Amino acid sequence: MAHGVFVPGHRGPAFVAEEVVCCLFQGSRLLVSRDGSGAPQLPRLDARASGLSLKSAHYLGRLDGSHCYGLHLPQGAKLPGGLELLGLRALILEGNELASALAGQAFQLLEWERTHRHCGACGAPTTPHAADRAVECADCRIVYYPRIAPVMMALVYRKTGDRGELLLTRKPNYAPGRYTVVAGFVEAGETLEQCLAREVKEEVGVDIRNPRYFGSQPWPFPNSLVMAFSAEWAGGDVVPDPGELEDARWFPVDGLPELPESVHISRQLIDDTLERLRRGG
Ligand SMILES: [Zn+2]
Repeated sequence: MAHGVFVPGHRGPAFVAEEVVCCLFQGSRLLVSRDGSGAPQLPRLDARASGLSLKSAHYLGRLDGSHCYGLHLPQGAKLPGGLELLGLRALILEGNELASALAGQAFQLLEWERTHRHCGACGAPTTPHAADRAVECADCRIVYYPRIAPVMMALVYRKTGDRGELLLTRKPNYAPGRYTVVAGFVEAGETLEQCLAREVKEEVGVDIRNPRYFGSQPWPFPNSLVMAFSAEWAGGDVVPDPGELEDARWFPVDGLPELPESVHISRQLIDDTLERLRRGG
């Protein structure tokens, strides 16, 4: 399943007779099986035999032809044999990209459902929207879509002589010795470019130029979409924001500290920028 083909969808079939792929959560942990090499996989289950109701489940699409759902493990349900509960974070760190993406999506949808049972304006119950993946107020008809919080991530670099330096930061709760890039939420009314410049200025005190988009990563804790950029230092001394950071400083590219694991887009952004600096780009 690690290299399966996934076709997204939000409306499931009326009736499913065959086994389905389940992102089956109990709190923030989900049930996984293990393949021959010990890698975690999303289980395939017979919904009826397992006592699962797919009616209230979130349909995600088809994985290798099988219908795929996100749902909570019902209270008192008998755990299917051979499965184990694994934290969503742990699943992501184990590196099965497709299983992590599906489980992350399912987790976000389940959290959104849990926090949108009632209308925020009038308090009436919400019901599923007829056409979209959304819920609608039964009374005043406001439609609530899954919430996604945009986060901007910036790796600031500068060229010094024939090599370069990266501006990295650490917060007090990071693993010992670990540093990473600057990141922060986009504010209402802000462009991505403005957010990038503001976040970097607030957190580390420097100005940037030439922002360059690298890529994006949904991060389901609980509903972020991280957009990663590199940006060139344009001036200013590094002054770490004392309210947020324990440290921020320039590191030479051949003397970097401990970095985030490679499943994180922050690490992929750092690796990509290093490669570009090595090539003189
Ligand atoms: Zn309402």
